[in-house]
Amino acid sequence: MRLWGRVTIRRRMLCLWLLLLGFALVTLALLDLFNRDRNHSHQKPGPPRRPLQRFPSPPDLEVIVDSRDPALELGLARLKSLQEDQLLFVPSTQGTKSPPQRKGSYKVLLPGANRSITAQAPLTHGELGKPVRLHLVGLKRDLELAAFQKYGFNEAVSERISLRRGLPEARHPGCLGEQYTKSLPSASVVICFHDEAWSTLLRTVHSVLDTAPRQFLQEVLLVDDLSQHGHLKSVLSEYVSHLDGVRLIRSTKRLGVGGCRTLGAARAAGEVLVFMDSHCECQKGWLEPLLQRVAQDRTRVVAPIMDVIDWQTFQYNATQWPVRGVFDWRLNFYWESNPQLQDKDPDLDTKPVQSPALGGEVVAIDRHFFQSVGTYDPGMLLWGLEQIELSIRVWSCGGSMEVVPCSRVAHLVHHHLPYHFPDQELLQRNKIRIADAWMDAYRKIFYRRDTLAHFIRQSESPNIAERLRLKRSLGCRNFHWYLTTVYPQLYIPQDRPGLSGELYNVGTGSCANYMPGQGLQGGPMTTAPCSGTGSQHCGLNFEGEVRWGPMGALCLDAKIERVVLSPCPTHQPTPSRLQWKFIKLSGQLVHQQSQLCLEAVKEGGLPQSKAREVYTHTDTGDLFLRPCTHHPRQQWHFEQLVAPKDA
Ligand code: UDP
Ligand code: MN
Repeated sequence: MRLWGRVTIRRRMLCLWLLLLGFALVTLALLDLFNRDRNHSHQKPGPPRRPLQRFPSPPDLEVIVDSRDPALELGLARLKSLQEDQLLFVPSTQGTKSPPQRKGSYKVLLPGANRSITAQAPLTHGELGKPVRLHLVGLKRDLELAAFQKYGFNEAVSERISLRRGLPEARHPGCLGEQYTKSLPSASVVICFHDEAWSTLLRTVHSVLDTAPRQFLQEVLLVDDLSQHGHLKSVLSEYVSHLDGVRLIRSTKRLGVGGCRTLGAARAAGEVLVFMDSHCECQKGWLEPLLQRVAQDRTRVVAPIMDVIDWQTFQYNATQWPVRGVFDWRLNFYWESNPQLQDKDPDLDTKPVQSPALGGEVVAIDRHFFQSVGTYDPGMLLWGLEQIELSIRVWSCGGSMEVVPCSRVAHLVHHHLPYHFPDQELLQRNKIRIADAWMDAYRKIFYRRDTLAHFIRQSESPNIAERLRLKRSLGCRNFHWYLTTVYPQLYIPQDRPGLSGELYNVGTGSCANYMPGQGLQGGPMTTAPCSGTGSQHCGLNFEGEVRWGPMGALCLDAKIERVVLSPCPTHQPTPSRLQWKFIKLSGQLVHQQSQLCLEAVKEGGLPQSKAREVYTHTDTGDLFLRPCTHHPRQQWHFEQLVAPKDA
């Protein structure tokens, strides 16, 4: 009995233990649930709620794009439809590791792994909130530097600035009272991006939403050009799906700037396309003046004044008006401030100004005109020059371009390009397409100033048959017409054999040189190793001017005995101060006003005291005017790098 009694006690104890264990487990589970709820309400990092469950498949979120669209003649292979998350594992072509992902949740760890971005609850248009919270745990300076390397701007500063900051008023007072009709055409703002930083991309989107009147804004169309960065995948889709009027489409092939914009254009529904870089901020009232100009003439392509966001401080800098887009003979684009224009026309403050070219940062164009004039050139590689090609084509084929001063948009100008290109000669190849398709015989002037392009062109021909067909079918005018009618300010070099090319000095074995970046007003000339690239090209013309550089707008000049560059005269006879005579037999270049000769002075060739005075940079020497002798340092050759018959 005692034995039976002991067994019964043990059984009871066991039941009690089991009961206690069960109770403990239930308590733990309840605590966990409670804690999770608390975590949510305090919005601590961790998997956020999945708003998609509450808003089943938002209608304006297109996950992926394929190229079966007949409007797209991009020559792409047929693309299979992918699930978005499959895109998470596109291998990087840049040798950088893809950020670690946690599939199925919205937490994305950025490289460096000590900070995280958490997507938050839905944000609707017009709703102010802090949609993305950043948890910066011990963000070190080297991380900031890494981000700077990665993006070409100070991303850490950008992240600290509100996604919806306002800009100080920079428009001319005359713009503020302007009235626009209620019947302006609708706009699709097409924003292509490739590996854009979160803060700059979303600031662009919010800026458009906050400044564009809803009745004129058909949509903001985000086009992902096969980005690799994790934050641009599910987190972005999620975020965008809650922004009213914003659509996101993704390309499964890297298209480059032009191709990506053409893709966006094919999917856009607005009457006017506004192509915008993915790091812009719009000034109040920027859209209406652009739409009005396009509505008045559907072949007019327009751009706002491009203000500048500083890559380091993110400070907003208003650009001086008047400004227009130009390019030089190496096919480099510039925004050129031109205060002289204003002297001629005091009403110019609020009046649009025609522009030989427009930059690509923000450009508005009628959707049908964009298609009929041949979209962006699908043969252009990844990045660069697409805006110059579009500009020459628009003007030559019946359209026009202008900058509209009552519209201002700020663009973040990068410190350096954030992309690594697989093709080192990519820019040259894009330039070759422009030269061969649009510049007729004037292309020789380009090839002499870009010898790398010249040598590439000698071994391969661009495939421009389609573009030439387009040019014929549209009845486009030739480049001579463009130069004389649209862009008469561009100096047309004479490039006489023996009187143009690199200016080679026999005594020093170096070439006349000008440090780029000294500005349009000129500065001291130096000598440096001959580059052979065409960057040191200059030429003596019939007027006796030695015109320097790819614009040909700077002239060899003398300040006392120092040889410098200064702006060449426009519409005026050349003063003798800027006139030179080349004596082929002796190789002397004689300054006409002083009758002194151009001499290369090697570093160390001057007495110490003098050397310190004049040497401001680390080049191999400087240029001076000296009494003429037959010393080899006064002997010069104009060396043409591209033989006249080749160009
Ligand atoms: N971009 C793109 N695909 C590329 C390269 C660039 O979609 O292969 C986008 C980029 O994110 C930006 C726009 O095209 O929104 C223009 O590029 P970027 O700003 O680098 O040109 P920049 O302003 O320096 O001329
Ligand atoms: Mn840009």
